Amino acid sequence: MAKKGEQRAMLGLVCSVCKNRNYLTQRNKINTPEKLLLKKFCNHCRKVTDHKEVEKLK
Ligand SMILES: [Zn+2]
Repeated sequence: MAKKGEQRAMLGLVCSVCKNRNYLTQRNKINTPEKLLLKKFCNHCRKVTDHKEVEKLK
Protein backbone atom coordinates (compact mmCIF):
# COMPACT_ATOMS: atom_id res chain seq x y z
CA MET A 1 0.00 0.00 0.00
CA ALA A 2 1.41 3.34 -1.03
CA LYS A 3 1.77 6.04 1.54
CA LYS A 4 -0.02 9.29 1.04
CA GLY A 5 2.05 11.51 -1.22
CA GLU A 6 4.06 8.57 -2.48
CA GLN A 7 4.77 9.29 -6.15
CA ARG A 8 7.81 7.11 -6.61
CA ALA A 9 7.48 3.55 -7.81
CA MET A 10 10.33 1.09 -7.73
CA LEU A 11 11.26 0.10 -11.25
CA GLY A 12 13.55 -2.38 -12.87
CA LEU A 13 15.83 -1.65 -15.79
CA VAL A 14 15.97 -4.57 -18.21
CA CYS A 15 18.66 -5.14 -20.81
CA SER A 16 17.05 -4.96 -24.26
CA VAL A 17 19.49 -7.59 -25.55
CA CYS A 18 19.46 -10.38 -22.95
CA LYS A 19 16.32 -9.34 -21.03
CA ASN A 20 18.03 -9.60 -17.67
CA ARG A 21 17.01 -7.10 -15.06
CA ASN A 22 20.25 -5.49 -14.07
CA TYR A 23 19.23 -2.40 -12.14
CA LEU A 24 16.60 -1.12 -9.80
CA THR A 25 15.68 2.51 -9.82
CA GLN A 26 12.94 4.96 -8.98
CA ARG A 27 11.09 7.41 -11.16
CA ASN A 28 9.03 10.34 -10.09
CA LYS A 29 5.93 10.04 -12.26
CA ILE A 30 5.15 13.71 -11.88
CA ASN A 31 8.52 14.99 -13.04
CA THR A 32 9.23 12.24 -15.53
CA PRO A 33 6.03 10.98 -17.15
CA GLU A 34 7.78 9.18 -20.01
CA LYS A 35 9.36 5.77 -19.72
CA LEU A 36 13.05 5.52 -19.11
CA LEU A 37 15.49 4.25 -21.69
CA LEU A 38 19.08 4.32 -20.53
CA LYS A 39 22.38 3.07 -21.78
CA LYS A 40 23.95 1.01 -19.04
CA PHE A 41 26.55 -1.68 -18.69
CA CYS A 42 25.10 -5.17 -18.77
CA ASN A 43 27.04 -7.82 -16.84
CA HIS A 44 25.50 -10.56 -18.95
CA CYS A 45 26.27 -9.02 -22.33
CA ARG A 46 29.48 -7.54 -20.91
CA LYS A 47 28.93 -4.30 -22.78
CA VAL A 48 26.80 -1.17 -22.67
CA THR A 49 23.29 -1.80 -23.94
CA ASP A 50 19.92 -0.08 -23.90
CA HIS A 51 18.02 -0.71 -20.70
CA LYS A 52 14.27 -0.30 -20.63
CA GLU A 53 12.10 0.40 -17.66
CA VAL A 54 9.77 -2.30 -16.39
CA GLU A 55 7.47 -2.46 -13.41
CA LYS A 56 9.19 -4.09 -10.51
CA LEU A 57 7.81 -7.49 -9.71
CA LYS A 58 6.67 -8.14 -6.21
ZN1 LIG B 1 22.34 -7.84 -21.50
